[in-house]
Amino acid sequence: MPTLLKGIPASPGIAIGKAAVWTGPAPGTRNRPFAGIEEELARLSAAVERSKAQLRDIRDRAAVRIGKSESDLFHSHLLMLDDPVLMDPVREGIRSDSLCAEEAVDRAVALLAGKFEAMQNEYLRQRAADVREAGGRLIRNLSGQPSGEVEMRGAGVICARSLSASETSQLDAARAVGIVTAEGGATSHAAILARALGIPSVAGVASLLAETRDGDDVIVDGSAGEVLLRPGEEALELYRRRAAEESRARAGRTADDGPAITRDGVRIEVLANISCVAEADAALAAGAEGVGVLRSEFLFFHREAPPSGEEQFEAYREVLSRMAPRRVVVRTLDAGGDKVLPGWQGAPEENPELGLRGIRLCLRNEALFGCQLAALMRAAAFGNLAIMLPMVSTLEEVRRSKEIIARAGGGVRVPLGVMIETPAAALMAEELAEEVDFFSIGVNDLTQYTLAADRGNRQVAHLYQPFHPAVLRLIQRAADAAIRRGKRVAVCGEMAAHPLAAPLLAGLGIRELSVSVPFIGAVKASIRRVNLGEAGELAEAALKLGTAEEVMRRLGGARE
Ligand code: PEP
Ligand code: MG
Repeated sequence: MPTLLKGIPASPGIAIGKAAVWTGPAPGTRNRPFAGIEEELARLSAAVERSKAQLRDIRDRAAVRIGKSESDLFHSHLLMLDDPVLMDPVREGIRSDSLCAEEAVDRAVALLAGKFEAMQNEYLRQRAADVREAGGRLIRNLSGQPSGEVEMRGAGVICARSLSASETSQLDAARAVGIVTAEGGATSHAAILARALGIPSVAGVASLLAETRDGDDVIVDGSAGEVLLRPGEEALELYRRRAAEESRARAGRTADDGPAITRDGVRIEVLANISCVAEADAALAAGAEGVGVLRSEFLFFHREAPPSGEEQFEAYREVLSRMAPRRVVVRTLDAGGDKVLPGWQGAPEENPELGLRGIRLCLRNEALFGCQLAALMRAAAFGNLAIMLPMVSTLEEVRRSKEIIARAGGGVRVPLGVMIETPAAALMAEELAEEVDFFSIGVNDLTQYTLAADRGNRQVAHLYQPFHPAVLRLIQRAADAAIRRGKRVAVCGEMAAHPLAAPLLAGLGIRELSVSVPFIGAVKASIRRVNLGEAGELAEAALKLGTAEEVMRRLGGARE
């Protein structure tokens, strides 16, 4: 029986393939007879070497495909296999308790992971998973099991409860044609990586594992957030045609890096939201006119301490020079909320989305902020840099940041902007516009804070409505304030890429959209269909409506 499952669109595009249900790596055998101290120690060192070779290979491939910051995760697993804190108790178990190597590893891993799990510090608590992952690999190598990479018997659609960032980053887009997960959302790490890798994906499909059998035919519509199981020949044929059309359109779009000009001759710039250095090339290939948001927090993940100024300088310089002379807006560290920076963020928070996030965290930690700003200012010479502050809610935050920027810049001046992603920032847009050179309206967070609906919580997903008139009225207020003062104003966040958004946003006066790389071509195409006179009337009408549904119906009707 065909079954339609609904989830959250995580990465666009259509994928068709056989379900490869992934329940995690095989655990490996623990119990085998003890073969004597020397023999077990020799088996252990051979398995350590094999594991290290696998991890080096994964790390190097990940560094090329998605960037160094993501690949550092595997480096930390590598270091663990040389760390006496883990390895001494393993050898001790073999020598003193006559355990076989598998059992000795198992016991040492459980002990160390247990210690990490009991810790207060979030970063150290998360290290427990790394210890288990590295230990699991070692045991699989000892017992001759497959190495634990996501196993694929051919091209297929990965169906899993959840995929870690490390598992996602190892996937090969030629074999993993689609990804469906029971957990997660559009802004989870795995979703952002799937988009960077160009793999269609749907997240948050609660009944996925109950409904799916290994080898089932599956259609993934990553744009609609739909998964069709056992679809039957007719639906397969329909989706094959749609996938072929999409791929033709993509090929066409790749060649089309011309400007997006409305039917009545007004240019609207289309830029890319990117999360790692390697994505800059994909953005250029897709026709991006610059980078509207470089989410710099991705440089700071998977590591025990913040990256040094030198490391940051190299990463910013790389993106700026690849994109030159196009504009690159680097958003300063936006950690906190669902983007936890383990280790150096202080105590866990009861309500992190309303806690020490974005600019609040940076102002609390001026050394960290100053180091990032100094690296950016040094890199400014290599391209067309602008700096943007995230999660601003007060004027004082901007004024204080400007003092720190002036100190870090040593005379260098680059345009400064703020994200408008809190209702306070939208309501204070007049005053903020006096302080900065540009705005970028972050509709992902603006929606969550305006409608008080956590963007990652499936229970309130029905309230998370970027097209709600309350959100639109705040966008209008911010856009008007910027336009009146001759300041640039962009919209970033997922809404900018929605097929109904271009006429609405153009009608509100927006002349710059920044979207995930896979959407660049489609957004340009939809701008080219806009007539600004009609768009202005449409936006005016939408602002007066009472519900998101009415707005979407009005926009959908106007498109037909
Ligand atoms: C936003 O909030 O709209 C945005 C672009 O930032 P992020 O998704 O990184 O929070
Ligand atoms: Mg945001």
